[in-house]
Amino acid sequence: MPLVRYRKVVILGYRSVGKTSLAHQFVEGEFLEGYDPTVENTYSKIVTLGKDEFHLHLVDTAGQDEYSILPYSFIIGVHGYVLVYSVTSLHSFQVIASLYQKLHEGHGKTRLPVVLVGNKADLSPDREVQAVEGKKLAESWGATFMESSARENQVLGLKIRGKIRVVVFFLWHCLVV
Ligand code: GDP
Repeated sequence: MPLVRYRKVVILGYRSVGKTSLAHQFVEGEFLEGYDPTVENTYSKIVTLGKDEFHLHLVDTAGQDEYSILPYSFIIGVHGYVLVYSVTSLHSFQVIASLYQKLHEGHGKTRLPVVLVGNKADLSPDREVQAVEGKKLAESWGATFMESSARENQVLGLKIRGKIRVVVFFLWHCLVV
């Protein structure tokens, strides 16, 4: 009998950084053109990893800014976070740092499994945030860092290059322990 584990993962970040596109790419395996602001949407997916079955609930949120108050539902019963900014928006990177502080305050001293994702890496000529800055921020949290392109379905980490699925794989890496 496989061991079934329930995992709730919340995707946070400033609006229009690609949260929905990443979630959709991960769950449906396709890129959505056009911008349709999300209210809030939960994707469910069963994923098998070794002998274990994970019932993943991926919560795609409406987008936050530095003034947002995070609801309890983003804190209680959450196993991990994907914090997304766009490499083309310095502001979205600054918002991520303030969101992390809020999460940290909400969770107290408990370990916070986080993956920091710099999305829209395919738009490199329009870059406002260098990969090294994302890496430094993630390191200061003890988090995993990667850049991605939801459009190209690519993840570009320091040592990895692969499909968007890797994002959630890394998250499990934190969660499985
Ligand atoms: P959200 O508000 O954070 O959920 O952002 P969306 O997923 O709705 O994406 C906002 C806009 O950015 C849409 O027009 C997407 O097509 C576009 N977008 C999302 N991810 C990427 C990406 O990796 N590369 C490029 N070039 N565009 C993207």
